[in-house]
Amino acid sequence: MHWQPAKFYTQNANGITCTLCPFACRFAEGDTGHCHVRRRRGHLLETATMATSVRHLHAIERKPFYHFMPGLQVLTLAAPGCTFRCSYCQNYRLSQFGRDQAAAMAAAIATPIDPAELVVEAQSMAAGIAFSYSEPVLASELTMTIAPLAKAAGVPIIWKSNGFITPQAAAELAAYIDAVNIDIKTADDDDHRRLTGAPLQPIWDAIAVWARAGVWIEISTPLIPDFNTSPASIRTLAQAVAAIDNRRGHTPWHLLRFHPDYRYTDAPPTHPQTLRTACDIAEHEGLAYVYVERALDDRGRNTYCHHCHSEIMTRDIWALGQQRIEDGHCPSCRTPIPGHWRRQRIEP
Ligand code: SF4
Repeated sequence: MHWQPAKFYTQNANGITCTLCPFACRFAEGDTGHCHVRRRRGHLLETATMATSVRHLHAIERKPFYHFMPGLQVLTLAAPGCTFRCSYCQNYRLSQFGRDQAAAMAAAIATPIDPAELVVEAQSMAAGIAFSYSEPVLASELTMTIAPLAKAAGVPIIWKSNGFITPQAAAELAAYIDAVNIDIKTADDDDHRRLTGAPLQPIWDAIAVWARAGVWIEISTPLIPDFNTSPASIRTLAQAVAAIDNRRGHTPWHLLRFHPDYRYTDAPPTHPQTLRTACDIAEHEGLAYVYVERALDDRGRNTYCHHCHSEIMTRDIWALGQQRIEDGHCPSCRTPIPGHWRRQRIEP
C-alpha cells in the first residue's frame, strides 16, 4: 500500500473524523475507515489511493458517457477500494479491497502516479483521463493533484462514480472534474441500503451540488431482476432522473443489463423485454435520452433529437459510429442537443 496524506478530515479533541463520504468515520490511532483505504497515523489521515491498479485506454462510450465528447479515448485509472459493498459487483477484485481476499492483489499491483507524466501521456494521445471500476470519490486527492495539470493541457477528467460523497467534498471536487456518470440502483432507500450498505439521499444531494456547479452528469442504472425491475420502481426512478434538470428530461440515462456475478448469482440476466419496457416507461416520464448499450438493437444505443426525433448519432457497442450533430445542434431542426460536443457545451 502506498499511503499518502489525505485531505477531507477534521481534527479535534475527540479525534479525527473523515469528511469525504457520508459515513463520516471517526478514527482512533491506527484505525482504518469503512472503505479500508483511509487510515489514521498519529495526527494525520492517510489515503492509499494515490496509486492505480489499472491504466489503459478505452472509448468514453464504455464508461458509459454518450453526451460528453463522443468518441474521446480516455486513459482509465482505478485505485483500490469502494464505499459500497454491492454483491453483484463485476469489479470486486478492485472495489472490495479490505473486505474480500480476492481483492488483495489490487493493492499489491497498485502503482504510484506521476501526475505530470500521466497528463503528458493523455495529451499526447488527445485523450481524457477517467477514474472507473473502483470508487473515484476515494481518489479525490489524486484527482485534485492531476486536475490542475490536466486543465492546463486541455485534458478532461471524468468519473464513473457511486456519487456517495459529502456535499462539501462534492462542491470542492466540482472544480476538478468535467463530467460524472453516477450509478443509481434504485429510488427506494431500504433497497439501496440492502444492496449497497449505504443510504440513498446523499447521492441525490451530491448530484444537486454537481448539477448546480455545471459538472456534466449522466446516470446509469443496472436493472436487476426482482430487485428494481417492477414498472413502479422504474417509474419512480425515471421521475427522479427527469427531475435532475428541473424536469426537462435531458439528463442521459443508461439502463444496464444485469449479469449474475460475484455473490449475486441467484438472479438471471435482465430479459431484453424488461429493458424495452423500462425505456418505454422512462420516455413516458419525459426522459429524452435513454440508452441500452447491449441487449436491444442499435436503436438502444443511438441518439435521436428530442425535438424532431432525427437520428443524430449512431453507436456500435462501446464505440461511436456516426456523429451528425453540428456545433451542438440537430442538423435537421437546429435544436440544441444537451451535451458537451468537444467545442461547445449545451446545458441539459
Ligand atoms: S471515505 Fe472512507 S474513511 Fe472517509 S468517511 Fe467514507 S468510508 Fe470512512
